[in-house]
Amino acid sequence: MTTTHQTQLLVIGAGPAGYTAAIYAARAGLRPMLVAGLQPGGQLTITTDVENYPGFAEAVQGPWLMDQMRAQAEHVGATVIHDIITQVDFSARPFRCDTDSGDVFMAETVVIATGAQARWLGIPGEQALSGNGVSACATCDGFFFRGKRVAVIGGGNSATEEALYLSNLAAHVTLVHRRDSLRSEKILQQRLFAKPNVSVVWNAAVEEALGTDAARPALRAIRLRDTLTGALSDLDVDGMFVAIGHDPATAVFKGQVAMDEGGYVLVEAGTTRTNVSGVFAAGDVADKLYRQAVTAAGTGCMAALDAERFLAAVHHAQRQAA
Ligand code: NDP
Repeated sequence: MTTTHQTQLLVIGAGPAGYTAAIYAARAGLRPMLVAGLQPGGQLTITTDVENYPGFAEAVQGPWLMDQMRAQAEHVGATVIHDIITQVDFSARPFRCDTDSGDVFMAETVVIATGAQARWLGIPGEQALSGNGVSACATCDGFFFRGKRVAVIGGGNSATEEALYLSNLAAHVTLVHRRDSLRSEKILQQRLFAKPNVSVVWNAAVEEALGTDAARPALRAIRLRDTLTGALSDLDVDGMFVAIGHDPATAVFKGQVAMDEGGYVLVEAGTTRTNVSGVFAAGDVADKLYRQAVTAAGTGCMAALDAERFLAAVHHAQRQAA
């Protein structure tokens, strides 16, 4: 039997942004409901050591951290539901959100916190060596490659920034790009080319990530194919950072809220407000610059506060009209 749930605040997504929004909204008495989606816990559930989330002197495990956030959200009164939002209608309040199970949520406010996923190359060895030399986040994992050799794959702002960041940690950084020019901003390129420990391999596609023979293999090299000549060569590296873009999980919101050309939800600067009054966005779904668990949590908090203020204004207006 399907159920229609009424809620003051529906959080869609169960990463740091979603759980933090739920924690703040629950403590404000909004009795939020959170629909967890396909990958409860979000990107941190596919991470191992987390050393940069404040509050933990020792590294913690990503899945453990997310379990704690869920438990904290439930402890303060949020309801976490394991379902997937399949369709939304933001044309009128309460907003209607349909789920895979057939249940329907009628929500006075919505926080979109569905996150984004890194794009991968899809080459042999990439997933097997993920977390053992292969990463999609230099800020998260660069620290583990101090004094080592790393490669960054891509030619956009992300790849250039990741290479710059890593050049302060690694012994050597090789940027590998499939064409003969970068698409990143010129100022970033100038900074990159000025680094003595950075080199660029142009016109090269990564064919394979090669691991060591150990019981728990680690990356030892990447196989490159020259896109002009087809020649193959191996580049010895300890780390490969894939920086070829991200895909925000916003398909279900297309046509309902304003997005940029990459599918990121647009928010009013300095807030989490979307172009639809009562719909807010937090975390990586609206952020292509920072993409950190702590920044996602921060904007999750902002979204709950923005929703609370929105509801207070609506209730005040209703009382005035009565
Ligand atoms: P982009 O889409 O801008 O760049 C992706 C890069 O990866 C391109 O160079 C592309 O090559 C390459 N690429 C894509 N697919 C493959 C593949 N299968 N194999 C090899 N290479 C591939 O993504 P970014 O993440 O860099 O940036 C996304 C957005 O975020 C942009 O708008 C960017 O400006 C913004 N951003 C801004 C920052 C800032 O202002 N400081 C920081 C980070 C991001 P090709 O060039 O050949 O297409």
